[in-house]
Amino acid sequence: MTQPPAAQAAGRELTPVDAHLAGILAAISPLPPTELGLADAYGLVLAEDVTAGLPLPPFDNSAMDGYAVHVADVAAASEQDPVTLPVVAEVAAGDTGAYALAPGTAIRIMTGAMLPHGTEAVVPVEWTDGGRARVVIRAAADRGHALRLAGEDAGAGEVLVAKGTRLRPMHIAVAAAAGRGSVLVRPRPRVVVLSTGSELAEPGQPVVPGRIWDSNSFMLAAAAREAGCLAYRQAIVPDNPDEVLPAIEDQLVRADLMITTGGVSMGGEHDVVKAALRQLGSIEFRKVAMQPGMPQGFGMIAPPAAAPGQETRRRRFRRDPYERAAAGAPAPPPDEPVPLFTLPGNPVSAYVSFQVFVRPAIGALQADDGLGLETVRAELAGPLRSPPGKRSYLRGVLDRARGLVTPLTGQGSHQVATLAQANALIVVPEWAVRMTGGETADVLVLP
Ligand code: AMP
Ligand code: MG
Repeated sequence: MTQPPAAQAAGRELTPVDAHLAGILAAISPLPPTELGLADAYGLVLAEDVTAGLPLPPFDNSAMDGYAVHVADVAAASEQDPVTLPVVAEVAAGDTGAYALAPGTAIRIMTGAMLPHGTEAVVPVEWTDGGRARVVIRAAADRGHALRLAGEDAGAGEVLVAKGTRLRPMHIAVAAAAGRGSVLVRPRPRVVVLSTGSELAEPGQPVVPGRIWDSNSFMLAAAAREAGCLAYRQAIVPDNPDEVLPAIEDQLVRADLMITTGGVSMGGEHDVVKAALRQLGSIEFRKVAMQPGMPQGFGMIAPPAAAPGQETRRRRFRRDPYERAAAGAPAPPPDEPVPLFTLPGNPVSAYVSFQVFVRPAIGALQADDGLGLETVRAELAGPLRSPPGKRSYLRGVLDRARGLVTPLTGQGSHQVATLAQANALIVVPEWAVRMTGGETADVLVLP
């Protein structure tokens, strides 16, 4: 990597990426945990240890369909010299009766059925003639064969899924197997996405030259869903200072996190998001040492204060049981400030900003520090350039099997078509201005 002498100086007035992210994470507290039915808990972060109330399996049972036997009774059995035993009972899975196995007899048993008292082995049905009154057994079984013993999977009181785990299907399975109908989890964050810009039109509607279709709000809502959130896309807000703040305040009622795009560039008088939010005082606008995504705004935003004797809309809303139940959230204390991200309007900038800053913030809402993107090291298939003093996130195609990443051509922050070809972001450090093919780079794997 090549480092020019001016690189450090150029970065000085910019906030480093890591410092900006650290500030965001420090400002966010996790959402209060809530008890949720197991069917709704997939993808959420556990806020308690799930332990085994009973051993797993809870009772000794058969691992196969076959015959419960004493090993001595079948020790001499072979293909040439089978052993025949009387079948004195049949136990199906779910049968709660108490059976005892007398020497010299067999009990027909199904997979998962409780073992008759005294069972030493189960002879699989495949080793027999499958008889119902008498069974011909053609092979000996060792002690313990095809038996599942109580507690061999987990002992009573053992932690099955640790607090902080993001619940995947296998965790749901073991919680259910331990008899848990509900679990304490962090609620699914509700993310509201709002795009601003007088040039924006709804996809599906005609555009005239000078207008473009709004892609950011759809992209970010999808990215929020991908990160495990409930996402609400709000219609376009024009570059009109009188409309921006009310539109944001209006949406706060259903947001655990809010994202706007557009209107935060470095000087334009049409940058109305910045102008409107500056009035609040709680949102900080910064130049972050990155490309794309330099203009960033972040802060905690509280809903507007109610007039005396009047409830805020937020309070009224928070009593809506349907909405809260859908989010799986308990009613939080009213007027809790909500993290607000104002992302730049260029689609690639907005996308990269989401992955670098918003995704970890969504994790912080759930007390999960593992939601950031996976980083791998890969060899560059070709050269690339990067501005001095900024960390670059370049679109690339990663071949994980070969450990090779190919930078795409068309790295402009408006080039959403190139973005659609990428499966990775190549990270070029602040101090590097170029890298050559064959060098190894950090690569963020896109979800
Ligand atoms: P801004 O951040 O508002 O200065 O916008 C920067 C660039 O991004 C301009 O070319 C905008 O037209 C474009 N842009 C802003 N918002 C969106 C959006 N929601 N979808 C697609 N492009 C956008
Ligand atoms: Mg704009």
